[in-house]
Amino acid sequence: MKTYFIGAGPGDPELITLKGLNIIEKADIIIWAGSLVNPKILDYRRADAETYNSAGMNFKEVTAIIKKNKEYDGIIVRLHTGDPSIYGAIQEQIDFCKSENIEWEIIPGVSSFQAAAAALGQELTLPSVSQTIVLSRAAGRTKVPDKESVENLAAIGSSLVLFLSVSQIDKLAQKLAASYGGQIPCAVIYRASWPDQIIIRGTLADISAKVKEAGITKQALIITGEVLRAQDEPFFYEMSKLYDPDFSHKYRGGR
Ligand code: SAH
Repeated sequence: MKTYFIGAGPGDPELITLKGLNIIEKADIIIWAGSLVNPKILDYRRADAETYNSAGMNFKEVTAIIKKNKEYDGIIVRLHTGDPSIYGAIQEQIDFCKSENIEWEIIPGVSSFQAAAAALGQELTLPSVSQTIVLSRAAGRTKVPDKESVENLAAIGSSLVLFLSVSQIDKLAQKLAASYGGQIPCAVIYRASWPDQIIIRGTLADISAKVKEAGITKQALIITGEVLRAQDEPFFYEMSKLYDPDFSHKYRGGR
């Protein structure tokens, strides 16, 4: 038996990789994260594939299925939302596979932060503005190390994406504004790439009120940083060297 941890992508079923889909088509057993994975992806499974929704299962129940089928020559798919390496809780499942000598592989996926940037029509790394993207979350029941506090991350001043945090937007926007300044643009993207996607654009000063008014409390990302000025101010940044007519590189001679 081999277990594949596959990134299902952010929602739109066409945003899974070809590799992930090819494995799903062959899988004997599929354990999928029902809360955020689009069930349409399951249309591609074999008619006789055993299917479990992990939304109501704990670690022991998931790994029991993997262990029970250990000797069987086939494919188990563990289907995770977005990219499995980001808040996917896959490490413990991989360590379990290692400890049980079960073969495994990770197939990456399109993360929701990438779908959110696409929905905004936004590059997150602009020359002279920010060349760094911080992916993080606010502390909740899951602890965040003190050195990664929102205040410390905001002090870097980079492009910042917060997962799993929109329910705390009020407090977060205030803390972020202390470093970025209240007038820095901020966007909240609810269910990026799904048919009911909502984009809320504002600044750190007014985003919280707008998000509350829209009633968004989960399944959303908070993106902030100076790069988002491009939403209203085209060409406010330095243009890229890569396509600069006076700049030559390995693949193209300059003027
Ligand atoms: N591995 C996933 C993240 C899982 S954590 C990824 O790479 O995207 C779950 C959190 O991800 C949600 O609380 C939300 O903050 C974010 N999320 C997942 N799918 C989303 C989507 N389509 N739109 C906006 N946020 C999403």
